[in-house]
Amino acid sequence: MDPKLLEILVCPICKGPLIRRTTESDLVCKPCRIAFPIQDGIPVMLVDEAIALPPDLEL
Ligand SMILES: [Zn+2]
Repeated sequence: MDPKLLEILVCPICKGPLIRRTTESDLVCKPCRIAFPIQDGIPVMLVDEAIALPPDLEL
């Protein structure tokens, strides 16, 4: 994934920065505790497609 693309991507809910998880193919917003999947190298920045992360998951 293009690092420049990650720089301009923000969480659609809180407008905060996203973190690229190396273990999963997704982008995580820590404050919202949600993950946006990356499909075919393209992040899916849709709230409807976002995955809620378990509260006990270490981010
Ligand atoms: Zn957020």
